[in-house]
Amino acid sequence: MQWSSWEIGRVLGIPIRVHGSWFLVFLFVTWTLATGYLPESLPGLSASRYWGMGGIAAVLLFLSVLLHELGHSYVALRYRIPIEQITLFIFGGVAHMRKEAPTPRAEFLIAIAGPAVSFALGAACLGFVVLAESIQEQHALQGLIMLGALLGMVNVQLGLFNLIPGFPLDGGRVLRAGLWAWGKDFYRATKQAAVVGLGFGVLFGLLGAGVIFGALSGALPVSMVSNGGWVIFIGMFLFATALASRRQAALRQSLAAVPVRDLMVQTVISISPDCTLDEAVNQYFRPYGYGGFPVLEDGQLVGLITVLEVQTVQPALWPWRQVRQVMRPLVPSLVVAPDAPVIQAMERMAQEGWDRLVVMQDGQVIGLVTHSAIVHFLQLRRA
Ligand SMILES: [Zn+2]
Repeated sequence: MQWSSWEIGRVLGIPIRVHGSWFLVFLFVTWTLATGYLPESLPGLSASRYWGMGGIAAVLLFLSVLLHELGHSYVALRYRIPIEQITLFIFGGVAHMRKEAPTPRAEFLIAIAGPAVSFALGAACLGFVVLAESIQEQHALQGLIMLGALLGMVNVQLGLFNLIPGFPLDGGRVLRAGLWAWGKDFYRATKQAAVVGLGFGVLFGLLGAGVIFGALSGALPVSMVSNGGWVIFIGMFLFATALASRRQAALRQSLAAVPVRDLMVQTVISISPDCTLDEAVNQYFRPYGYGGFPVLEDGQLVGLITVLEVQTVQPALWPWRQVRQVMRPLVPSLVVAPDAPVIQAMERMAQEGWDRLVVMQDGQVIGLVTHSAIVHFLQLRRA
């Protein structure tokens, strides 16, 4: 299922994106409220009023989910974990973090922040309802009371659902933080928490099937069939994401055990910063077929040049541009030690958006580690 997503704004510097599937939920929630919940609890209004209120309620529900994700993001940012984006989609929201939490404590606090925001919002809404209901002229506030009750309930449910201890739900992250603190092994903790996630996925599936069976056999109202379907759908999603998390943890675990030295490219061809791009392309990139070269001046590493940097300059200008002018200048994050685990190199590349790092030992360039070499290594390992 390939859907597009749209950026609708930025909060805390984080792009907020809405996934295509989210519009389905928006329409569905508005429709359910406008044709069922609202006319039943607030009779006597026009259809357009119901649709208007339904739309507003759906937007507020969307804001609740967003605030939950911003809760996670705020704490993550305090631990200097960059947030690539927050995506809202059919099952709620996800804050995409560029790296993992540094400690079990950080993991716990980041995980718990989302449900904490949801519970606080829920308490505020329900508090408002209790307060408004104690006022004499409450029929004037009837619409707001309804909305407050609805939002309060949904936020409390959002907090409770996310506390289910199956990874990758927030409760599963809390569980992972505990297992990690206890066993001192991040990847093993992830795999264990993901197994619990698999279990809850299956449990939801069975529960949903039970509800559908009950509805069809007459033990439950027939209208419960769709609820059962939805529970199965959530169970399948949880199962699939838990399985993917478990596989990814296993993969990362294997990359954590391999040093960069084992899969670096050892025949290093370096290039001079005074080369023109024309020379670089015709004497290095084309003949060797490599995607990038370290740039050395008087035996010292000064940068790295890759196809990406060359492509930023029009071919007509290649004879007049030097490698020095377009190369990625040397920064500490461009260099990795041969004994560092491959996972560290991979995370660095992902974080910086690079496809290769220079391997150095005792001030000497001894190799390059590339993204494609890591991918090949993983393919071989899987085979
Ligand atoms: Zn959450």
